[in-house]
Amino acid sequence: MSQLSLIDPPADTSGAPPLERLVSVVVPPLEGEFLYSFDPAAHPSLCAGSLVTVQFGRRSVPAFVVSVASEREAAALREMQQRSVRVKNISADSSIQAFSPGHLEFFRWIAKYYAEPLSKILDLAVPAPAVSKPEPFLRLSGKELDSRLGSSQRAILDRLSSAGGWLSLSDLRTTTKAPAATVRALLEKGFVDQELRSVAPQLLEGNAALASLKDSLTEEQQKAVDAVSPHIEHPSFASFLLHGVTGSGKTEVYLELMVDALNRGLSALVVVPEIALTPQLLDRFEKRLSQKVALLHSSLSAKDRWRFWDGLRSGALRVAVGARSAIFAPMQNLGLIIIDEEHDASFKQGEGIRYHGRDLAIVRAKLSNCPIVLGSATPSLETFHNAATGKHVRLELSRRFFSSPPLKHELIDLNRLKPWEMPSKGISPQLLQGLIDTLKAGEQAFVLHNRRGFASYLQCSKCEHVVGCPHCSVTLTYHRKNNSLLCHFCGHSSPPPVVCAGCGAAEPIPADGAEAEPLFSQRGAGTERVAEELATLLPDARIGKLDRDSVSSIDDYIEILRRVREREVDILVGTQMIAKGHDLPDVTFVGIVDCDVGLHMPDFRAAERSFQLLTQVAGRAGRRDKRGTVVLQTRVPSHASLKSTVAADYQSFAEGELQLRRALDYPPFMRLLRIIIAAEDKAVAQQWAQHVAEVTVSACDGRGISLLGPAPAPLEKVRSHWRYHILCKAPSASLLQNVMQRVKSSLPDQKKARLIFDLDPQDML
Ligand code: ADP
Ligand code: ZN
Repeated sequence: MSQLSLIDPPADTSGAPPLERLVSVVVPPLEGEFLYSFDPAAHPSLCAGSLVTVQFGRRSVPAFVVSVASEREAAALREMQQRSVRVKNISADSSIQAFSPGHLEFFRWIAKYYAEPLSKILDLAVPAPAVSKPEPFLRLSGKELDSRLGSSQRAILDRLSSAGGWLSLSDLRTTTKAPAATVRALLEKGFVDQELRSVAPQLLEGNAALASLKDSLTEEQQKAVDAVSPHIEHPSFASFLLHGVTGSGKTEVYLELMVDALNRGLSALVVVPEIALTPQLLDRFEKRLSQKVALLHSSLSAKDRWRFWDGLRSGALRVAVGARSAIFAPMQNLGLIIIDEEHDASFKQGEGIRYHGRDLAIVRAKLSNCPIVLGSATPSLETFHNAATGKHVRLELSRRFFSSPPLKHELIDLNRLKPWEMPSKGISPQLLQGLIDTLKAGEQAFVLHNRRGFASYLQCSKCEHVVGCPHCSVTLTYHRKNNSLLCHFCGHSSPPPVVCAGCGAAEPIPADGAEAEPLFSQRGAGTERVAEELATLLPDARIGKLDRDSVSSIDDYIEILRRVREREVDILVGTQMIAKGHDLPDVTFVGIVDCDVGLHMPDFRAAERSFQLLTQVAGRAGRRDKRGTVVLQTRVPSHASLKSTVAADYQSFAEGELQLRRALDYPPFMRLLRIIIAAEDKAVAQQWAQHVAEVTVSACDGRGISLLGPAPAPLEKVRSHWRYHILCKAPSASLLQNVMQRVKSSLPDQKKARLIFDLDPQDML
């Protein structure tokens, strides 16, 4: 690294033109841009998007170049520099291209929209570079396959072939789980070759056109493709809502459009809910597109994340499939963006910069001049409304691909069943019969219960005191597996109490042989309990469980799905995790233990979320030729969400719900800004909330913005912080941005209270 020094102001400006050029850089996490100079001979390719090392104070720190000054600007800056700006040098060690100059516009847009410094956006979006050392890559040698190959050897060859011929050994081993010996055997027999490289070679060169599957598309699928294609052919922005019922083949439409984009030399970006990122999905994409796909998700190692990022930026990889943060991927010649399950709440970031992946993807498509397709069976009301008012073009897939008869829904009113008529506490005779019939027919069932644990809370039988979290204003959930009480918000865990904190009564100690009535009653069943009841009722059934407690890693998740797919599980019990994406041919029955979970949340989207969840989980049944049956248990059978789910009528649900939203001035008719004030001291939180509200009122000063609060947030205490919130409603986002900027700039940094701005909030708790 060269010695760094301040440039002395040129003594004589009439002399030879200076050799150095000026750039402006951001240094995360600092706000603002800083001027530096560099020697173009040492950094010939330095441009916006270069990641460099600069001397900042006494330290060397990484910085992103965000603009390179032209000669004229540089002259003006030098003029200024003589007065105030001090220019420093960029160190001479090599720079890395982190993103392309064109990408910066998108980052600047985000910074402006959420009123955050650009450096924070870059920090969030751009992964830390990891220098990749050369490592072994494997390649199909082209040797004719013979019939004596074992199944795990074949799996490796298949994976290599669907990834376009080349893969790193480590990638191959993680995705196929192949033992080292199998790979060695293939090398020895000459079916694969090995080479040391730092990156995979450019894939899919030149004229290797991918085949279109036009002939196999249904008429509706073809119509959808035909509507989007012209915007790929003549690159132009257009946004589409692909409204297709569950099992209608939306993924086939995506793939056909991607083939189109790739054949035209463009790249494609697909964003899906995190939970949908399975090996099956990757396999389906790689097989069809004959190339390696960058799979972007939160549990990638820093090295893999950078490798995918660099591969996409350099153009070696042209397809990215990922969760929310994939919208930042450095695509070259972006020709198509797909957002699958666009209604999914996981597209909204819940902390830090609370961006909405779907909304930003639309902006990205606009800036990249390419079409975007938002797919869902249950579109968010925002998207549905945008389609109705002409912002998006609506494309419809009204029928399932396999011509199974329509789903049969059976709504069970639990109010009408006497306790002794119930086979178990949570399972009605109809639900049980449905499961028995399914198992008899040799088919599989899903049972949804959107609550984790064994019991939602413990209640004292003497004084009715409910055991709550010491740090949050929620009850603690009882988990039987490890006999503990767990807070689902902060993770606090403790053994069940033996003395009631409300009345001081103590848990009775059972005398020998006698069964004492326990002090604490278990209320509200969770998945653990439902699975246990089913195991008692159906002792021969193989029951699997899918929720956050049973799968703690992606590998666990993949493993349980494998067991279901390979018919090692007859009944899969789970939370909303079982509702998303799964396309399993033998699932013909779906039981919903309690449709009312979530229906009464203090959130204006409660009915919408509930409708989406029920419809999505119902959509797992009967996806091939056999009829699917759905049994829904409820205590509010006349609720609109339920009636529409049973009638499979999205349209009437959406229309009814939109009327309510309009009447109450909620999105999509109004935009929202939620300001949360949180502090450890309740009085501080309250005082600050009052102060912030006053500042907000004056920032709004009569521009048609209405203000609610400050009020205690529905979740009043989380992680020992008391929370208040203020809700602003305005007809446009720009009004709210303005308010956000003014409030931010007029409030000094506070040590005692935290201020969170959530523009377009999804979480109202
Ligand atoms: P969705 O995402 O709309 O729920 P999928 O894309 O998973 O539906 O499609 C459901 C099933 O139908 C899948 O098994 C898929 O392979 C099959 N399928 C859909 N369209 C076609 C098609 N044109 N040709 C062959 N199979 C199709
Ligand atoms: Zn807690």
